[in-house]
Amino acid sequence: MNAPAAMIAAPKKTKKQTPRMLEVVRSERITPHMQRITLSGEQLVNFPDDAHGAHIKVFLPRAHQREPQLPTVGPDGPIWPDANDKPITRTYTVRRFDPVSRELEVDFVVHGDEGPASRWATHAAPGDKIGLAGPGGPKPMLGEAQWYLLAGDMTALPAISALLEKMPADAHGQVFIEVSDEQECQPLAHPSGITVTWLYRRVTAPCESTLLLDAVSHLSWPADLATFAWIGGENSAVLALRDYVRRAHGLSKANLYAVPYWKDTYNEERYHQERHRIMDELE
Ligand SMILES: Cc1cc2nc3c(=O)[nH]c(=O)nc-3n(C[C@H](O)[C@H](O)[C@H](O)COP(=O)(O)OP(=O)(O)OC[C@H]3O[C@@H](n4cnc5c(N)ncnc54)[C@H](O)[C@@H]3O)c2cc1C
Repeated sequence: MNAPAAMIAAPKKTKKQTPRMLEVVRSERITPHMQRITLSGEQLVNFPDDAHGAHIKVFLPRAHQREPQLPTVGPDGPIWPDANDKPITRTYTVRRFDPVSRELEVDFVVHGDEGPASRWATHAAPGDKIGLAGPGGPKPMLGEAQWYLLAGDMTALPAISALLEKMPADAHGQVFIEVSDEQECQPLAHPSGITVTWLYRRVTAPCESTLLLDAVSHLSWPADLATFAWIGGENSAVLALRDYVRRAHGLSKANLYAVPYWKDTYNEERYHQERHRIMDELE
């Protein structure tokens, strides 16, 4: 039976915060489709040091701009520039933050130049500017539990890696990560009681892959342990897994994070509302 795990607090409000302007200090291709961008800047001075795996918004320059035009501060919050100059917004994850060097790492899946964020990350060079708001998302990202399930694709890998690094040494659980092939695997630091299994999609389209659901549904789920499940990735896979763990294992909002990070063939502008509707369904 799943005892209720620690409560997930409401997302932090970022409405009145103005984004920070940061600068690229390093850009490295860590696997064939993962670009690690290290950001720095004076404006990271009060960035929290416990936000590993948390959500961030990044603000990217438009095609005619060298750097994004960030909002000014008004009495009721940020005042954004007109649509033509308003930065392009995407959601990413705090992979790692070092408060001493004031360096913040963000891992971008690079999937071609069609997506503005993927394009920006592919071509980013030291000195390039990017806006950043947050961190936000559930706090804590993982509720307390006796057994953890973490499952996701490459977009969730930065969060999964960051969460694993900070887990208590005696944590137990199972992690499934779906990537295209062996070359996308990364060495992960994790407690010895956590088993990490990589799943290879090969040529299957992300929205048609059932690898995560198949793996989780064949798992021998521990009886009588308080469980917390964390699921992130492509829309179809996240919804299928979310519905499975709710139906088969009775998980609910108190012990389940299930957020679709992207939807195949939809850009973020088109998918944004749908994602929020899906997240509101989780009670
Ligand atoms: C809370 C949260 C945290 C996230 N953290 C991360 C993170 O740390 N790293 C990360 O890489 N992503 C992360 N994402 C996902 C990221 O926001 C989306 O993938 C986003 O759509 C990328 O923007 P884009 O401008 O590159 O592409 P868009 O302009 O949004 O989309 C253009 C086209 O590319 C497709 N596409 C989008 N993403 C991918 C992908 N990953 N692989 C293949 N095709 C894709 C779209 O379906 C569309 O057809 C996160 C999302 C959320 C909600």
